[in-house]
Amino acid sequence: MRETGADGVRLDSLGFYFLTCYNPAHQHDTPFGYNQWIQHLLDKVSRAVRAVNPDGLLMTEAPVDFFSQWFHSALQFTYPRDIPPMRLALPGYRPVIYLPGGPVFASLSGEIGGCNGSVKFPEREQLDENWRSMRQGVGETLVWGKAADKDPQASLPDVTCRLFHGPGYSVVVGARAASNDPLRFPDNTGISSKREPFTVRVKGVSGPIEGAYLYDIEKATVAPLKIRNDGEAWTLPIENTNWFMVVLRKPQGPAFASFNAVGTLHAGESAKCDLALLGPPKHKAKMQARLLSRGLAFAPGNTPNVSVTVPGKATLVVPEGTPPGHYEVELKGEGLVGIKRFIVVE
Ligand SMILES: [Zn+2]
Repeated sequence: MRETGADGVRLDSLGFYFLTCYNPAHQHDTPFGYNQWIQHLLDKVSRAVRAVNPDGLLMTEAPVDFFSQWFHSALQFTYPRDIPPMRLALPGYRPVIYLPGGPVFASLSGEIGGCNGSVKFPEREQLDENWRSMRQGVGETLVWGKAADKDPQASLPDVTCRLFHGPGYSVVVGARAASNDPLRFPDNTGISSKREPFTVRVKGVSGPIEGAYLYDIEKATVAPLKIRNDGEAWTLPIENTNWFMVVLRKPQGPAFASFNAVGTLHAGESAKCDLALLGPPKHKAKMQARLLSRGLAFAPGNTPNVSVTVPGKATLVVPEGTPPGHYEVELKGEGLVGIKRFIVVE
């Protein structure tokens, strides 16, 4: 770290094992002292790292509760679709998970995804893109926010939900997965083909809610949702999707904004983006925001990003010579939770 300016260290493995050592040259008191030896190692490494950079990030692979005395975090590889138990048990200790089970399971494990799976499923590429679009604005909350240790309960037994608390809002993520067995991998990590309306009961969201918004991840659409409160829980009616997020916005929460999907474009073409405000704070009817593209541009001036008013319009331009591909366009702003969309150029 001193020589390269690296700002963190990961000690690979370590969190998985309890290994005995019978090497007489080591002069161990007992062959079974693995946990003590690991603590000495973590203590030694953390002192050395902090001497160079007090803010250096310290990670192992695989999280263990007592590691948190010295290390911040652990890389965790997980197939199942659960919130990592260490995230719930030790909120200050942050497992960083990667999940090759695909985007549906990732969404249920508090991971922002971006992975089609360790086995490629072409039919899941659209789902993966939809997930990355819809969760963009609340991604920080899904990964670093407070994960509730009691899941919201759906009226169907094969719908699984999670609850995350962020600044000024809470997010329910839910899916009716192809299999209700969280360990079935990799063939059953898509979405169920069964279709029927259901409700989700959400407890543990305190205070008044000023707006609720349904992010239909299957269809990549966003719309206000009418919810009910019976004094004990909020009830969310989910009618037409097997994969969704519902944002519950508090009165002091940020504004939520979205823009329409734009159809397939070709080099030299342009398209209108309709920017919509889902739930503005009561004192604000309009918000300032930015549209950012990676590889595309906005009129006038063909700049890769542009200042916009929401609600409002913007003109997206595909410059001449743009190669075919899926291009990201993101809406974001201060005090505003936006989304990202992928624009297909053929
Ligand atoms: Zn030894």
